Amino acid sequence: MQEVHDLIIIGGGPGGIGAVVEAKTLGLAKVMLIEKTENHSHTIRKFYKDKKRVDKDWQGQAVELEGNVAFVDGTKESTLDYFNHLLDDELIESRFNCEVQKVKKVDDVFFVETSDGIFQAKNVIVSIGRMGKPNKPSYKIPPSLRSQVGYNLDNCGNGETILVVGGGDSAVEYACELSDSNDVTLNYRGAELLRPNPTNQAIIYEYAKDERVRLKLGIEIDNVESEHGQVRVNFVDGTHELYDRAIYAIGGTTPKDFLKACGITLDERGEPIFDENYESESEGLYIAGDIAFASGGSIAIALNHGYRIVNHILGQHLSQ
Ligand SMILES: Cc1cc2nc3c(=O)[nH]c(=O)nc-3n(C[C@H](O)[C@H](O)[C@H](O)COP(=O)(O)OP(=O)(O)OC[C@H]3O[C@@H](n4cnc5c(N)ncnc54)[C@H](O)[C@@H]3O)c2cc1C
Repeated sequence: MQEVHDLIIIGGGPGGIGAVVEAKTLGLAKVMLIEKTENHSHTIRKFYKDKKRVDKDWQGQAVELEGNVAFVDGTKESTLDYFNHLLDDELIESRFNCEVQKVKKVDDVFFVETSDGIFQAKNVIVSIGRMGKPNKPSYKIPPSLRSQVGYNLDNCGNGETILVVGGGDSAVEYACELSDSNDVTLNYRGAELLRPNPTNQAIIYEYAKDERVRLKLGIEIDNVESEHGQVRVNFVDGTHELYDRAIYAIGGTTPKDFLKACGITLDERGEPIFDENYESESEGLYIAGDIAFASGGSIAIALNHGYRIVNHILGQHLSQ
């Protein structure tokens, strides 16, 4: 007979790490964390630039931490170090390089189907984030430009002309980082950069004032094409510019097929349905972290989800 875990957590990002730490601290006995890549926090490793400042109050959302994870402002490296330290507790059973494909409920038990086999649990938290599939523009990217159009800083070199597209914190941080050794333009369809947190807003407008980053605000891109090996960006006002590279930092998509394969019902917008305890319509099946939001989310918010969910599993009812 296979053992039945009290809780299986799918996804080793902040939502999953928060949940696993709370589960251990608050007293769930058999808990397993499953992560598809070779280490925890894949979004942080892949999408954050090295030495990036990590803000607790991301996108200007001030969050009070409720649980037992003492996450503070820091850098990419200090955040990963802290999460390493939390997960190094040998009481935490974690499986890396293990991809969950499906969750099926039979009577009161969930069967979690993975690349390593099937595991059973009384409760499951799905916390796989949105960055598995970054948002792409509505127009087609020509195949010949695939190596020059991206969604993170991979492949970026020095001395290039680069267009960063997006109006949030990630776009601003990418633009400022790249401007140290490249000629960078930041394009956002809104007339002002209101979404980044106050620190990033101050930084980007200072960079623009010092002409370290050019701002191209209030205008949308119509399409992109290849011109003599460069990225030709055609704007809706009929103008165009040539760049060596374009980077889209416009968030991530809801993993609808995966959520459906886990038995989570979606609303008419394709977003997961859950209640104030982050429990889906299937009892014992929860949602944590970025997938609980159509947009937004943050590390601190994801950590709080874990705390709320574990308390709910343990029968503790917290006031909202
Ligand atoms: C460029 C950038 C900068 C940011 N900066 C900040 C910041 O300064 N401060 C802040 O608070 N927030 C920041 N954020 C947002 C923050 O990273 C997210 O809110 C947070 O990572 C969400 O955590 P999560 O656990 O929901 O998802 P994720 O961090 O995306 O983690 C999901 C995990 O699930 C795994 N997974 C996916 N599918 C499967 C599967 N089928 N089976 C098993 N595992 C799977 C993934 O590999 C991944 O490790 C930033 C985001 C970006 C993109």
